[in-house]
Parts: sequence; C-alpha cells; structure tokens
Amino acid sequence: TNKEFLSLIQKETNKNDFERYLKQLVLKKLSIEENIAIFEVANKYIASWIKSKYTNLIQNCFEKSINIKPDIEIRLFGEKKTKKEIQNSLIQNQSPESTILNPSYTFDSFVVGPSNQMAYNAALAVASKPGIQYNPLFIYGGTGLGKTHILQAIGNHALENDKTVIYVTIEQFMNDFIFSINKKNMEHFREKYRNCDLLLIDDVQFLSGKESTQEEFFHTFNELHNAKKQIVMTSDRLPSQIAGLVDRLKSRFEWGLTTDIQIPKLETKIAIIEKKSELNGINLSRDIVSFIATTLDSSIREIEGVLIRINASASLLNLEINLQMVQNLLKDQIKENKENIKLPDIISLVASELNIKPSDIKSKKRTSSVANARRIVIYLARELTHNSMPDIAKFLEMKDHSSISHNMKKTTELIEKDENFKLIIQNLKNKLINKE
Ligand code: ADP
Ligand code: MG
Repeated sequence: TNKEFLSLIQKETNKNDFERYLKQLVLKKLSIEENIAIFEVANKYIASWIKSKYTNLIQNCFEKSINIKPDIEIRLFGEKKTKKEIQNSLIQNQSPESTILNPSYTFDSFVVGPSNQMAYNAALAVASKPGIQYNPLFIYGGTGLGKTHILQAIGNHALENDKTVIYVTIEQFMNDFIFSINKKNMEHFREKYRNCDLLLIDDVQFLSGKESTQEEFFHTFNELHNAKKQIVMTSDRLPSQIAGLVDRLKSRFEWGLTTDIQIPKLETKIAIIEKKSELNGINLSRDIVSFIATTLDSSIREIEGVLIRINASASLLNLEINLQMVQNLLKDQIKENKENIKLPDIISLVASELNIKPSDIKSKKRTSSVANARRIVIYLARELTHNSMPDIAKFLEMKDHSSISHNMKKTTELIEKDENFKLIIQNLKNKLINKE
C-alpha cells in the first residue's frame, strides 16, 4: 500500500526531502505483470525532481520489499484536467506551507559570475536574514537569465529555516485576488498574504495597468513592510520603466535594494552549461561546451533547451554525443545567424578588440599586429558568413584569394595549438553572433 511504501522510502531518504516532497507521492497503480509502478503528485516540478533524483531509490525499495524492480512513472494528479483547472485549484488550495517551488532551483545549482554576483549575494542575504536588510529586494533583467531561479532559491533556503514563504507570479496574485473578491472571501486572501515571513513575487512588470490589483498589492506591501517581513520581487525592467504603475508603488519598489542580472560573459556561460549538463547527467566534451556557449545567444533557458535536445537525440536515436551531432542540431540557429553578420561588422569588431585602426586591416601594412588581425577577420568571415574566398579577398582589397586559404590554415593551426588564442576567437564569434 501507499503507507507501507512511504514508510519504506522514509527510512532511505533524508528528512527534508521526505517531509517536503516524497511524502506527497501517491501510489496509483502497481502492476507486476507490466512491471510498472505509477505515482501521482501535485506539481510537475516535484514530479520531475523526484524522477531525476529518486527513481533508483524507489526501485530499490520495491526490490527489497516485493522483489520486483518496476519502471517508475510519476504523473500529475488527475492528468485529465486542463492546465488551467490544475493551476486554479493549486492557487486556491495553496496554503503558505505548500508554496509551489521548484526544488532544483537552489543557490547551490546557481552559477555565479560577474553578471549576477550582486543579485546572488543580495538574495543570499535576504534568504538567511529575511526582513533585516534590503527590503524590498528588487531583481530585474532580461528573459531566461535566472530571475525565477534566484527568487525560488530564496524560497527554498528560507523553507529550510522553517520560515513561511509565499511564492507567486504577479498573475497568480491577481487571479487569487479576483477569485477572492468573487467568492467574497477577502479575509482569507489577506490573511494568507499578510502572514508570511517572505513574500516572493515574480514578474511584477505585469502589474502594468492593473489598477485594482495594484491597490491591493500596495496594502499587502505596506502591511508586510511595516511588520518587517521580507518582500522580494523580480521584473524584466526597472520599477521606473514599468508603464502604468502608480507612483506610490514605483517609489516603494525602490525603497530597498534594486539590482540587475546581466547577460553572462562567455566564461560564466561555459560554467552554466557545464553545471546544467552535469545535473542532467550528460557528458559533454570541452569542445562541445564551447561550441554551444559561443553559438547560442544569451538566454540560459534556450541553452537548457538545447541540452535537452542533445540528450533526447542521443538516447532516442542512439547517437553518440559528439561535436558534429551538436553542430547538426544547431544548424538552423547558425544559419539564421549567418545571414545577419556582415563583413564590415567583423572588421570593426576585430579592430576595436585588438586596438588597431579598421582602415589598417584593408591596407598593405605587414606589421605583425595588423597581419594577425587580418587573419582573424578572414577566419571569422569564412566561419560566420556565406562569403566565398574571392568575395573576402575582394572586400579586403587583396590581390588574389590563394592567400585567403593560406591564412585560414594558419589560423586553424593556431587555434588548435593555443588555448588562449582559441578563447579570443570564440569571444569574438560570440560577440558577432549575439550582436543586437
Ligand atoms: P528568468 O526568470 O530570468 O526568465 P529563469 O530563472 O527561468 O529565467 O532561468 C531560465 C533557466 O536558466 C532556468 O532553468 C535556470 O535554472 C537557468 N539559469 C539561469 N541562470 C543560471 C545560472 N546563473 N546558473 C544556473 N542556471 C541558470
Ligand atoms: Mg521568470
């Protein structure tokens, strides 16, 4: 039975994981003929987290007790419901204790670099000592750069210290508010949002133009702030840039600390890819990691999507993960970028990065720095544009294009020999591919 199963698994896991997540598993079906055990839980994050972390352990529990090792399937409750229904029921039933957080969004799994260092430190500070410093904490930045991850990391950390946490997107807050008005149950709503230690609100830019929600949020904010409870918000822009946000909220949002998350630099991107592939159990060579980091633009979410595709192709098509396979997967992405990069862009970028005059690259000068820059331009032009060798020779005002292929060969050799040079090239590629 479910009870027996839970007591078995409880013995094998740590208290925190069990109390917070595993306890929620409900055994729906166990079929010895089909060799399968089906469980249900309330949300997809918990489902996929348990799946990735505990499948083996669950199988072992079955093995120990009834001597079969079934496949494990973890579904959402009542999968027949529409997404909307599930979401609504979650919001309505959500008590502070059952705040829906993705357990894998932790401080540990977040890669820190110059682009997010300050937001990370501030988040860690408010998670450890809520309500004392930086209240509210306002984190802003572009899509897919880790705002939700950091916000939920605060929540997960605070939950571990037995704080009450509410995490909602501003849209959930609004739905909850409207629902409570309709049900004439505002008391419950206010009690819920004003009795927590931390209120974490995601994507507050969507407050834009929602006057009655702004009004209600204003009161929630004041209550919590007066009671020295921690408020953390994220947004894709600064408070002052949120159109249709009333001034009194704008100014309150800036009372504490406002900090941004920027686009990660190449090294941080590489570190994030390494971390994500490790977490997903994918083994990528250094070459593949650099290739992904330099090819894809800034959104980490997009990079994660690629890692999932790599993993899926590898297991479904039984392919070996190598550079060529990854290049193939990203073909469309690269092609799209190629159309956007023009020869003059390459010259001006290389010139400015290497501190020489753009006009020198087209000149007859033969100093080593100019020759080096010219070689890099040629290489990048071949790699990143559709121009032929004669096209490039003509553009650079060179007499014949045989020296183009000579230059290409030399650069390729250098890249193989010299790790530092390779990084310089990758960085340039990265900048060209990601130019606005
Ligand atoms: P946002 O809310 O800013 O749009 P998310 O927090 O949803 O972005 O991040 C998108 C994905 O990228 C998430 O899976 C997140 O774990 C991952 N991610 C972003 N930044 C980092 C980082 N610095 N370290 C690890 N993972 C990151
Ligand atoms: Mg987000």
